Amino acid sequence: MTERKVIIETGWNLDNSYARLPKSFFTIIKPNPVRSPKLIILNYTLATSLGLNVQALQSNDGIAVLAGKQIPKGALPLAQAYAGHQFGHFTMLGDGRAMLIGEQITPLGERFDIQLKGSGKTPYSRGGDGRAALGPMLREYIISEAMYALGINTTRSLAVVTTGESVIRETEQLGAIMTRVATSHLRVGTFQYVSKWCTAEELRDLADYTLQRHFPDVVADENQYIFLLREVIKRQAALIAKWQLVGFIHGVMNTDNMAISGETIDYGPCAFMDAYDPATVFSSIDIQGRYAYGNQPHIAEWNLARFAETLLPLLHVNQEQAVKLAQEAISDFSELYHLNWLTGMRAKLGIFNEELQDEALIEGLLSLMQKYHADYTNTFRSLTFDTRWDTDLFGTTEFAQWHELWQARLGRQKEPKTASHQLMRSSNPAIIPRNHLVEAALEAAVKQGDYSVMERLLVVLSSPYAHSPEQSNYSTLPALSTRPYRTFCGT
Ligand code: AMP
Ligand code: MG
Repeated sequence: MTERKVIIETGWNLDNSYARLPKSFFTIIKPNPVRSPKLIILNYTLATSLGLNVQALQSNDGIAVLAGKQIPKGALPLAQAYAGHQFGHFTMLGDGRAMLIGEQITPLGERFDIQLKGSGKTPYSRGGDGRAALGPMLREYIISEAMYALGINTTRSLAVVTTGESVIRETEQLGAIMTRVATSHLRVGTFQYVSKWCTAEELRDLADYTLQRHFPDVVADENQYIFLLREVIKRQAALIAKWQLVGFIHGVMNTDNMAISGETIDYGPCAFMDAYDPATVFSSIDIQGRYAYGNQPHIAEWNLARFAETLLPLLHVNQEQAVKLAQEAISDFSELYHLNWLTGMRAKLGIFNEELQDEALIEGLLSLMQKYHADYTNTFRSLTFDTRWDTDLFGTTEFAQWHELWQARLGRQKEPKTASHQLMRSSNPAIIPRNHLVEAALEAAVKQGDYSVMERLLVVLSSPYAHSPEQSNYSTLPALSTRPYRTFCGT
């Protein structure tokens, strides 16, 4: 990829490789001027790692860029076209309220998409207003940064600005724009769009671009498109296992919300599970529980099958052979996912080596957690520190029996108990962005203009494995009266 380097004071060093792809993949758009942008939050460490100057970003000119009012040199704003299966139904979508201003080339030579979300209407807006409200943008900021700190691949949040304009949802709300940073915004839905509405050459262009951008290590003599499919499957298997291990529920795993890079993307109605229950659903629109916690691996596999379908013409000239290759690759998903999950669960229980019965031991604990409505995160914290915070579960004979089996299991490995404890500390977070904590932070921010609650929350969320005394204050469970918690797409 040729890079056009343009460096201004802020440090924007943007290239536009996506704009060099076939024209049908996107629409070049003009910025939508906003009335009076105000910076609400800026991610200093992320800005610095991108090669951006935080002082300059906070100046009027810097903020004007984050609000999509001013375009930095080298930017070529565009809205990406994509399609997607939404709750199983195929639809044409595209960036309806976002624009990609370009790809920032960092001082280390890495490439990151810089996307403004909530920046106004685009040709793909359909009926929408192209805008976003402050609450949901801050929510995405908090949860994506928490995911990053938990060690989970994710898009990140550089900044949130308010626009000085209001957006109408159920009520009138403050308009806001979030700057999202991603290794790319290529989605399963991008391939679905190109496969359905573009030419065979264009599909190859997209696949080649994706390989170059995300999988440059492809070996020349293998079928690079099978490699692409297999690598995407591998990354998703690792990603979804990590979600399950921390109790993250994405909430809207439509194919347009599944990134080819293996990053978690599009934080809409997502939320973390409190009490362990595979049927947990937070999203108000997920009536059937399609995207329930326990269903996420299955849905990921379904989405990957849709991805594989788009690649068929590239996999083999013979259609039957192509289908066979795709099916073989897809059939590896569940095993790959399972291995990632099992490895992660062993670590959560301080187990270093492998025994055949480990899975039964893990399932034994999970079923007791479900039976006694034990909090997922706090149960593992309690096991890590050998405390008994969740009394309902820990007081039972069933748990005592399980605990004995677990202790015996730990005794059958060469590592001492101290090593197990260390492993558990670094595998079981002290803090997750619990729904009521996030709500409290958002309420103070949106209703009172008080950002201090959110800022304190972001600090404790930034080192989830520190197990600091301060974090204990954040581990209390939400009041029963606030449950069941419901999330909304926030569009
Ligand atoms: P999401 O549910 O956030 O993944 O969005 C699904 C689709 O709806 C994407 O094409 C979005 O760009 C589009 N969309 C969401 N909110 C709006 C909005 N307020 N205006 C226009 N398009 C939107
Ligand atoms: Mg989306």
